[in-house]
Amino acid sequence: MKPFIDTHAHLIHGVDWELMDEIAASGLLEQAWLMHCPCVSDDIAFADEEEVLMCAERYPGMYIPFGFIDLTKGASEVTRLKEKGFTGLKAISPVKNYDDESFFPVYARAEELGMPILFHVGIISKGFWQKMSVPGSPGPGKMKPNMLDTIADAFPRLQLIQGHQGVPWINELWESLFYYPNISCSVCGLIDYEWLMHNLDSRCADGRLFSEKLMFGVDGLYGSRPYWQNMIDTARFTEEFFLRVGRTAHWGKSERAFMSESASALAKNFGV
Ligand SMILES: [Zn+2]
Repeated sequence: MKPFIDTHAHLIHGVDWELMDEIAASGLLEQAWLMHCPCVSDDIAFADEEEVLMCAERYPGMYIPFGFIDLTKGASEVTRLKEKGFTGLKAISPVKNYDDESFFPVYARAEELGMPILFHVGIISKGFWQKMSVPGSPGPGKMKPNMLDTIADAFPRLQLIQGHQGVPWINELWESLFYYPNISCSVCGLIDYEWLMHNLDSRCADGRLFSEKLMFGVDGLYGSRPYWQNMIDTARFTEEFFLRVGRTAHWGKSERAFMSESASALAKNFGV
């Protein structure tokens, strides 16, 4: 199995550091984009901001820290997260639509500071908003993929990453990837493989292949052994998907782009 970049990752509270050392030594994980998640749950405790940053510092260049952005807090919150050490931002369950103009100062500041934003789009686990430690809203309706188009158009130097494929609005994903050079997609969660098979060879308006904007992710928790095994299994399955299912298609040759190279190229844009 070849090394992979996990473009949507979380960290568990109470990290098993021995395991993290093993992961670093394994050579399997090239990089993980680590999203701080302000979520309170009975069965899973997510790491807080400090723990996410500590992990990034402990393994330089391996874990890239993304801070959760409360969009209602305005531009100063972006500056706070940047100064604290976060490379990127993660948005989820906003109280208003992502493209609400009251959030534009946040996007302007992120663009100015060169911080990419990964937006959760589409389907979300039932009741997630009630588990958040900050205000959120129920259902996926304020997180439609095409809301990112508005933001990408208004802030052309801001890097926007679709977290997941935006199911059930997957056709909007196609339009966003085709038309906006600053939108990419972290493919994980509820994956529509049929859509992938039909679109990996599609070409964007700027001439790039979709496979250059679609990136592997797991959306699991680092720091816990069962989750790490799931990441290995998911990466192995995805590699096989390209090699075996894609054997008779051009996109079968895009395995390295999907698993690592597209994410690596994007990360250079935000200084990693
Ligand atoms: Zn996630």
